[in-house]
Amino acid sequence: ATTIDRLSIGGFKSFADEVRLDILPGLTGIIGPNGCGKSNVVEGLRWAMGETSARALRGGELDDLIFAGTGARSARNIAQVTLHLSNAAGLAPSPFQDADELEISRRAERGSGSEYRINGRVMRARDVQTLFADLASGARSSAIISQNRVGQLIAAKPEERRLLLEEAAGITGLHARRHDAELK
Ligand code: ATP
Ligand code: MG
Repeated sequence: ATTIDRLSIGGFKSFADEVRLDILPGLTGIIGPNGCGKSNVVEGLRWAMGETSARALRGGELDDLIFAGTGARSARNIAQVTLHLSNAAGLAPSPFQDADELEISRRAERGSGSEYRINGRVMRARDVQTLFADLASGARSSAIISQNRVGQLIAAKPEERRLLLEEAAGITGLHARRHDAELK
């Protein structure tokens, strides 16, 4: 199976310096006191997967995601999150179809938006979003459930629930591509 086995996060939200997290097989838990940055790790993951909703990232605009500085540390001007995927061959967009390892990064610079790269090459947001939709673990997929989302899932309307099931089944990417094809 394709796995995300490493996440590097630097200049993003509360992460002033680059931190590298190796995700080992099995269950991983992140523990720590309130406000230490646990949710920020998950938001970094979503952001690198192509999340664009400010609400999902608890920020008004892109620049809010860049480390803003504290009493002890000055602000950063660049935020970068990199995901390392193994066994990704077949899922990757052209020209990486045969690449078994993928390094997907998103980088924001203060005042000038963000940019995605796959294995060092600049790619469209759409390429990264489709890749993760196919992986059935996209930025908004049911595989990531945020702190306030459990109650919403219980109260969801049938058609909202269908979308979640489609994401879980990994067919959301197919819909996105069909939509693209219909527009052409
Ligand atoms: P809880 O246990 O309460 O859920 P948590 O570990 O999930 O806490 P987070 O919500 O990840 O904590 O982190 C919140 C912290 O991140 C706050 O202290 C906030 O000031 C800090 N933070 C958020 N955005 C930035 C930013 N752009 N620059 C610096 N710090 C930031
Ligand atoms: Mg939290």
